[in-house]
Amino acid sequence: MEKPNVCINCYNMLDKIAGRLSLSKSEIDILTIPKRSFTFSFPVIMDDGSTRIFTGYRIQFNDARGPTKGGIRFHPEVDLEEIKTLAFLMTLKCAVSGLPFGGAKGGIVVDPKKISKGELERVSREYIRELYRFIGPNADIPAPDVNTNPQIMAWMLDEYEKIMGMHAPGVITGKPLELGGSFVRDISTSLGGFFVLKEATRDSKVKPSNTKIAVQGFGNAGMNIAKILHGKGYKIIAVSDSKSGIHHENGLDVKKVIEHKEKNSSLSGFKGAKEISNEDLLELECNVLIPAALENQITKNNANKIKAEIILEVANAPITPEADLILEKKKIRVIPDILANAGGVVVSYFEWVQNSMNYYWTTKEVTKKLEDYIVDSTREVQKTCKEFKCTMRDAAYILAVNKVLSAERLRGVLK
Ligand code: GLU
Repeated sequence: MEKPNVCINCYNMLDKIAGRLSLSKSEIDILTIPKRSFTFSFPVIMDDGSTRIFTGYRIQFNDARGPTKGGIRFHPEVDLEEIKTLAFLMTLKCAVSGLPFGGAKGGIVVDPKKISKGELERVSREYIRELYRFIGPNADIPAPDVNTNPQIMAWMLDEYEKIMGMHAPGVITGKPLELGGSFVRDISTSLGGFFVLKEATRDSKVKPSNTKIAVQGFGNAGMNIAKILHGKGYKIIAVSDSKSGIHHENGLDVKKVIEHKEKNSSLSGFKGAKEISNEDLLELECNVLIPAALENQITKNNANKIKAEIILEVANAPITPEADLILEKKKIRVIPDILANAGGVVVSYFEWVQNSMNYYWTTKEVTKKLEDYIVDSTREVQKTCKEFKCTMRDAAYILAVNKVLSAERLRGVLK
C-alpha cells in the first residue's frame, strides 16, 4: 500500500466537504494522514505476581496550529484506527474553537473496571514511560477521555516529572486542582455542551421546561450534562449507561438518579421509571437527543428511527457519515461533536495557560471565558451554515479545514 498510515474513517468524514472546498489531493493527504503514530507494548506486574502485556497508542495527527492536544482513553476495544479518527477530530475541534493547538489522541487496550487500583496506577505510569520523549507542554499534551480521570492524570504527571527531574504541570490537563488543575475542567465538556445548545436554540420559543431531553451515556460527560440541564429546568426524560437505561415521560429527578447510580453502580431499579435499553433510548420521541457515550451509535440501521428534533453530539463521532446523510434528509438538526463537546478542550487550554503563567483563575472567570469561546464558535459555525447553505457539521468542518490548511500554507508546506 502506498500510504499505509492513511486514516480511512477521516477520509470518509472529510469526503462531503472536500468537493465543496475543491480540496486538492495534497490538501486531502495532509488532512487525513497522521503526522506521528505510536503503537507500543509494555509489561506490567499484576497483583498476583503474573506479568501482563498491555498495548498503548498515541497519534499526533496534525501540529500546524500548535502543540498536539487530546485525551487518553482506557477501553478494551481501543484500536489504532479509532485513535486516528479521534485525533483527526481533535485537530478540527481545536481549530473550530480557535485554540492554538493541533490534534492528538491516545489509548490503552484495557478495561479499567477489571483491574485493581494499584494495577491501574502501574499501567498509567508505564504508558508515560513509553511516551515521555514525545510529549511535553510545547509538544503534545494529553488529557482525560473515556474511562480516565484526574487521578490517572496525576499519576501520569508525576511519572513525567520524575523522569524529567522538574515540575512541568503543562504536560497534561484535566489534573486535580491541587496539582495545577483548573476550576470547571471536571464539568467543562458538559457545561460547554449546554452553552452550545443554549446559543444554537436562542431563536426558539420553546421553554426549557417544555424541552424533552434523552441522554445516552452516564459517564463524566453524560451525567454532568443531565445534571446541568436538569438544574436549568430542562426535562430529562431518559438516561442510560453501558448496561441499562431508565425513562419517565414527565422527567427524571437527575440528582436522585445520580445518588441511585452511586449506591448501586447501576441505573437499573430506579423507582418510578421504566427500564429501557440503550437502543430504545436513541429512538425515543424527544426534542433533544444527547449521545454522550461512544462512537458509532447512530448508524444507517437506526438513523431512520430517530425522532429527536436536535442531536447534540457530546460524544465523539456518535453518528456515522452514512447516518448523517439520513438525518439530514429527515431535517434533524445535528450539532456536531467538534463544536458540541469542545468545552472540554477549551478549559484544558485554560488549564495549560494557567500552568504556564503560574497564576490561577476563579470558577467565575473560567466559566465566563468558556461561555465566550463557545458562543463565538457557535455563532461562527451558524454564520458559515448560512453562507454555504449547509449543515452545522459541514460548516464546522469547513471552518476547521480552512484554518488548518491556512496554517500549513503559512508554514510553506502547501503552495
Ligand atoms: N478528551 C476530550 C475530547 O475528546 C478532551 C481533550 C483535551 O482536553 O485535550 O475533547
